[in-house]
Amino acid sequence: MTSKSFNPFEVAQQQFDQAADQLKLDDHVRAILRWPMREFRFQIPVRMDDGSIKIFFGYRVQHNDARGPAKGGIRFHPNETLDTVRALAMWMTWKCAVADIPLGGGKGGVVVDSATLSVGEKERLCRGFIDGIWKNLGPRIDVPAPDVGTTPQMMGWMMDEYSKLTGQYVPGVITGKPVGSGGSLGRTEATGFGVIFTIREAMRHLKLEAARCTAAVQGFGNVGQYAAIGFSELLGGRVLAVSCYDRHDKTAYTFGRPDGVDGRFLQSITDQYGTIDKAKAQAAGYVIEGGDAWLSKDVDVLIPAALEGQLTAETADRISPQVKMVAEGANGPTTPEADAVLKQRGIFLIPDFLCNAGGVTVSYFESVQNDANYYWEHEAVLRRLDQKMGAAFQGVLKMALAHDVYMRDAAYMVAIDHVVKAMELRGWV
Ligand code: GLU
Repeated sequence: MTSKSFNPFEVAQQQFDQAADQLKLDDHVRAILRWPMREFRFQIPVRMDDGSIKIFFGYRVQHNDARGPAKGGIRFHPNETLDTVRALAMWMTWKCAVADIPLGGGKGGVVVDSATLSVGEKERLCRGFIDGIWKNLGPRIDVPAPDVGTTPQMMGWMMDEYSKLTGQYVPGVITGKPVGSGGSLGRTEATGFGVIFTIREAMRHLKLEAARCTAAVQGFGNVGQYAAIGFSELLGGRVLAVSCYDRHDKTAYTFGRPDGVDGRFLQSITDQYGTIDKAKAQAAGYVIEGGDAWLSKDVDVLIPAALEGQLTAETADRISPQVKMVAEGANGPTTPEADAVLKQRGIFLIPDFLCNAGGVTVSYFESVQNDANYYWEHEAVLRRLDQKMGAAFQGVLKMALAHDVYMRDAAYMVAIDHVVKAMELRGWV
């Protein structure tokens, strides 16, 4: 998923160790939380359209389930590794804890570029993933969801396969399903809009007027799209640039317009893998620059919403002096070295597992609706999401101010504290 020198699991452990020191955690408690409680790696043989059989590799990591069933997405990405999945699973534990939803942390992955598969091959790969791991999944065990490279339709196939294997309709085994097949209204925009709700809270804290603020977004997948749309529609601000990875050219570009991009228009010319159509953008007056250009724009807010390890010590140095806030829509976008630069420059940080907790929060709402077999209005979902994100942000800010710590450390302190309490209450430690 990322460059060889950057190991997300080492970063996740390093961040955890720092918070564990601050919380003075006992050694045995650290030992439980530093590593996932369970890990699976399995083969997925898939019949390809040409009749051949190809073997894919799948992973599922369950980091901790003290607060409830393991929860987290499944990534389809050519560079997926066990360490990436471990890091993401651990971050899910903290994410659910900081959002205060009764779930643990897990993550899955398949080493594949889904853009190379036909629809039929994708469906067989999704069903094969479930065939390989279904005994260790379930609404009260581990509940997957979409992530990079996976879609609601794929979740629908996976839910169907699990239901067939278990002989009953089990919508609660997976979230992020299509609406009409057990999915929740509002799940599609939940992560991006959740990012915006935390930015709104941070702006209040920093006394910034949202309508006068500008932003640049990295990544135009599900999170980047709805963060860009929400920044203008929900806050009244302007997004001056968005970057995206072009899967045809295998390179990234930045799309900008001085008066602000139109997120809905850009979304309408983006394919299902997050590649914006350059010709159509150019015809509509967009300026196209190199993939890193988003980072050095003179804006108030930077929203990295792509992959891990994007803000490094070197790239963080290129951030404009105008930037007041970094809101991490992606999981793990900032390396510890870049963190030190942001801290030293006094840039306010909304850390990843707080900032992007909106997706899993609505996933939780989806499973509540599945259990009750009663579905909520769109407006009710977004209102509850807003409440949850606001409360989570305020909890972390309070911790940061009370202990005079950086927002990432504060988020870790809140999250780890919740998880350790649950382990104590269950008699594990
Ligand atoms: N993949 C998303 C995340 O990283 C959502 C997880 C979920 O809904 O379970 O937060």
